[in-house]
Amino acid sequence: MAEGAASILPDMKRLEDLDIHNTYADLGPRFYTRVEPTPLANPFLVAFNRRAAELIDLDPAEAARAEFVDYFAGARPLPGAEPLAMLYSGHQFGHYVPRLGDGRAILLGQVRNGRGESWDLHLKGAGVTAYSRDGDGRAVLRSTVREYLCSEAMYGLGIPTTRALCMVGSHEEVYRERVEKGAMLLRLAPSHVRFGSFEVLYYGNRFDDLRVLADHVMADHFPALGEAAHPYLAFLDEVVARTARLMAQWQQVGFAHGVMNTDNMSVLGLTMDYGPFGFLDDYDPDFICNHSDRGGRYAFNRQPQVALWNLSCFAQAILPLLDPQDGEAAAAMARQSLAAYEPALATAYAAGMRSKLGLLEPRQGDNELMHGLLNLMAADRVDYTRCFRDLAPAAGGEGGGVASVRDLFQDRAAFDAWAADYDARTATEGVDPAVRRAAMNGVNPRFVLRNHLAQEAIERAEAGDHGFVEDLVEVLHNPFQEHPARSAWAQPPPQGGPEIVVSCSS
Ligand code: AMP
Ligand code: MG
Repeated sequence: MAEGAASILPDMKRLEDLDIHNTYADLGPRFYTRVEPTPLANPFLVAFNRRAAELIDLDPAEAARAEFVDYFAGARPLPGAEPLAMLYSGHQFGHYVPRLGDGRAILLGQVRNGRGESWDLHLKGAGVTAYSRDGDGRAVLRSTVREYLCSEAMYGLGIPTTRALCMVGSHEEVYRERVEKGAMLLRLAPSHVRFGSFEVLYYGNRFDDLRVLADHVMADHFPALGEAAHPYLAFLDEVVARTARLMAQWQQVGFAHGVMNTDNMSVLGLTMDYGPFGFLDDYDPDFICNHSDRGGRYAFNRQPQVALWNLSCFAQAILPLLDPQDGEAAAAMARQSLAAYEPALATAYAAGMRSKLGLLEPRQGDNELMHGLLNLMAADRVDYTRCFRDLAPAAGGEGGGVASVRDLFQDRAAFDAWAADYDARTATEGVDPAVRRAAMNGVNPRFVLRNHLAQEAIERAEAGDHGFVEDLVEVLHNPFQEHPARSAWAQPPPQGGPEIVVSCSS
């Protein structure tokens, strides 16, 4: 730094200097149960994420300290932490389950960074809590690797998500369908409050507590809403709007969550609780990523509707805040707020899909053009990510790049007919093709976390090779760039490769 110049870089801190507190603990024990993590035996560091460390001003050199692993294997208490398991309930596969809560994750506390942001430190796989029911409170390395990779992939794609700071492994045996190894993930999020955090209070007739929780969330995350004419209605409107945007983003990148129960829905509109998620390879709108989801409730193309159903559960839970005296008036407000969901989703989806096609201004007929392409992709089971990425060279009427995307289709005549319409449409904008291509490459990723890549990372990590996770995260953090040395990771799964079954078991 030049002499006399002030530093604008935040101070990088040691773990012990993070200034951890736990504002959730301040809400009172009606909202959680205190519990200390149960340490994993002989833990070791599997992965550390420098980019996430920046969120809490943590010096990345800290990861090399022996104590680092102990802190995040639950073996050493972090100074200032007040570990607790959060209480919530939720609708699981359409049925209300009155008592869920953090069964295997522990909120250690929050860190406020130099930019004034607060980040929850949530240790997943940290042992039994009051809400574990029959579970062992553990997470296996397999599911921990999947969550670590996917939260960072979503971040790289620009989609709101919880983040992953680090992953700790162990040789402790954990029993699932087979014997696996236990692991822990340190998850970061501005808040872990879920739709179900409100539902548990509503169905428990704890209306005063509803207000306490809403005020807590709003003060920390939506301070501007306090100025609204009706702050709780404004809160509902905000959750509706964020969820609509999130669903549009999931659809645009071909992401299926797999377990959209209301206990897995963030009131901040974050993607959270990564389990049997999946990114589309071949475009199949009915894609079901979760093998436990026999009826396809959470199929790819049902997600936007399910999110609205989930929002209705959330709205129901906060009715007593909307109008404590008049239930009919409260319900009318909730309905009006929910009515904004579909238009918000449609607008966000249309804008996002237009940008995937490189259409810079909205025009009549754009929806038909977009659905025309999706229908052809579905008919020919064309790889979703590759098709959109390879469309960029074809866009702009130069002709030269059409071949590679055209080759993805079996019905070439149908594709050619569509491409002629597409050419005619792009020609109406008079945009420099290079500009259009650059814009498309900024929204159509080359890389997503394909299931077979996650599986390779898991198998290598289980064999003690942790480098693959690190290399993959590096690419997933920059999925819109070309990475010539990693071009294999942009490919669809190998033909005839093993079927990878993912279910709720994790
Ligand atoms: P999920 O479907 O992963 O969001 O989990 C649903 C509920 O089951 C949550 O309350 C979890 O905390 C709980 N749960 C999942 N796995 C375990 C486990 N191994 N031990 C204890 N609780 C668990
Ligand atoms: Mg969950």
